Amino acid sequence: MTTRQNSSVLFIMGVSGSGKTHIGQLLAKALDISFIDADDYHSQSSIDKMSTGIPLTDADRYPWLDRLHQIAQRHLDIGCVIACSALKASYRQRLSTDISQKVSWIYLKGDFDIIYTRMQHRKDHFMGAEMLKSQFDTMEEPEDALVVNIEDSAEAIVSTIKNKLNMKAEIGVIGMGVMGKSLSRNLARNGFSIALYNRHVDGLEEDVAANFKSAHSELVSALAFDDLESFVESLASPRKILLMVNAGAAVDAVIQSLIDYLDPEDIILDAGNSHYLETNRRLQMLESKGIYFIGTGVSGGEKGALLGPSIMPSGVYEAYQKVEQYLTTIAAKDSNQEPCCTYVGRQGSGHFVKMIHNGIEYAEMQLLAECYAILKNQGMTNPQMADTMEAWKPDCDSYLLGITIDILRKKEAGSYLLDQVLDQAANKGTGKWATSTVADSGEAATMIPTALFARYLSAFKTKRQEAEALFTSNKQSNSISTSVLRDAYQFARIINHHQGFSLIDSVSAEHDWNVNLSEIARIWSEGCIIKSDLIKQLVNTFKQGGSIMFNTPWSTTLSQGYASIQSVVIESVQSQLHTPCLSEALSYFNGMKIGSGSANLIQAQRDYFGAHTYKRIDDPKGKSHHSDWTTTTD
Ligand code: NAP
Repeated sequence: MTTRQNSSVLFIMGVSGSGKTHIGQLLAKALDISFIDADDYHSQSSIDKMSTGIPLTDADRYPWLDRLHQIAQRHLDIGCVIACSALKASYRQRLSTDISQKVSWIYLKGDFDIIYTRMQHRKDHFMGAEMLKSQFDTMEEPEDALVVNIEDSAEAIVSTIKNKLNMKAEIGVIGMGVMGKSLSRNLARNGFSIALYNRHVDGLEEDVAANFKSAHSELVSALAFDDLESFVESLASPRKILLMVNAGAAVDAVIQSLIDYLDPEDIILDAGNSHYLETNRRLQMLESKGIYFIGTGVSGGEKGALLGPSIMPSGVYEAYQKVEQYLTTIAAKDSNQEPCCTYVGRQGSGHFVKMIHNGIEYAEMQLLAECYAILKNQGMTNPQMADTMEAWKPDCDSYLLGITIDILRKKEAGSYLLDQVLDQAANKGTGKWATSTVADSGEAATMIPTALFARYLSAFKTKRQEAEALFTSNKQSNSISTSVLRDAYQFARIINHHQGFSLIDSVSAEHDWNVNLSEIARIWSEGCIIKSDLIKQLVNTFKQGGSIMFNTPWSTTLSQGYASIQSVVIESVQSQLHTPCLSEALSYFNGMKIGSGSANLIQAQRDYFGAHTYKRIDDPKGKSHHSDWTTTTD
């Protein structure tokens, strides 16, 4: 961490009139830390002496220096600027005893004539030439201080000090929303010096970053801005800027407003849920300006982002290497304490795998909702359902199963909160994008679209109520045993993961991304929403090569769970339940394990009405054939 700020107490020293107080105040303001004027801490006897023109002795000064030393010690964790003449080496030594590693000295140096002239122009202050000269005589110039020429403007001096003390932030975060806040705190907690920015909107969004900073102790050394140029200026080169804004137009708007302030080799990371094709476009546009762009998926929600998310970065590898330490440090750790962050591949491959992660998540959530529907249909209470699912943990534990159990148990004012939640599922778009990608890819990843359409169907609440009144009759409860349901659920999850990972593999091959499926399973084993025991085991499955369905132990689990999913689907249909993902898992599996299917009829129909041709099984050369389907020969 080359540019990390490691001095928390900054002593500004120099003779009277060198500008210690003014510069110190400005510097403290720029760094958003406290300012302490040493002159405020003299004892009354010293003040009395000075006011009558009697110079202080070392004995007078020692208690004062010791008090300042205590103040410095108290500020080690939160930082401060202390303006103190500290003319002698022994004074400075006394001030930094035992804390020298955390103290920096800034010496404001100027000619006698310049300072004397300045003093004469001060309204309430007059120092005779003799007194100033005695200060110059006393001054033992420091060897280890940052020496700053006082002839520059105060602003230039502050900027010089910040630059020379390497006080630029290592990485900046734009967007102090749910995720930006959590990631910022995570970065700061891990010791990175960060700059925070949120846009300013008069009357609506004011001092958002500064207010957020002051609400959290770990952000004490963070720099906070609502002026974009100052934010960019506060970053060490090459600049690393992490965007955590809403996907879509906001990402383009922020990039456009940043471009003018950036230099070649600076790096923008988009950590929101952007569409991977948009990431490809942005990457190309920024590449033409020499700016690197890293599209990175981040999963784990607000808590994960704070404590350790799963991170899926992609783009130019050399750029990734420059941000790797930040991402791997804040990421969740897998069971071997390795970071749940890996370089996914070129272009927008990181956002692509995040999108499929979300697609798998949609189907996993839907499967749990269907199990809930089946158990509820049996007349189970919420805590009984929670207990049932709790008992499934040894076989199919996952984050989503865990939160479902919590949700089932949650009470509010004596009744179960879940029962008060309207049954209309919303979505933010990644499931829709994943579904479009499934269609474009030619892969039969049917569970993601099925889960998406189940959400869409749920939205038609009024129509569903009308249809219920019109069509439903003889509602009956099912008698599926909880162990059979568990096996069916696990069966469907295996199919869901098989489809999702096969989709990643196929699209990766199409784009020549070379995505390592075992690594993806590993970084999803902790920190993300679909973390589960199943995902952990997939790390080794993919090391063996091949896909899930055709690998042990999954092929065995599918064979063993087949009877269960069959009976669950049959009973659900008989009970008039809506269980599309459980049904689809069975349907897909049946379709996959039919060596000779019915698509010969589809091909014949296509050739009949559109002369689209077909292949014959009795033609080993695989030529295309066309027939007149209206005439028959023997
Ligand atoms: P959020 O709470 O709504 O915050 C969005 C942030 O973007 C706010 O700071 C907002 O600033 C800023 N913003 C919006 N439009 C902007 C514009 N035109 N210019 C500048 N700033 C703009 O959203 P979030 O939950 O943090 O999500 C951020 C991204 O992470 C999204 O892409 C989301 O899909 C993704 N994500 C979210 C989660 C999650 O669990 N929430 C998990 C993984 C990924 P103002 O406050 O000034 O409006």
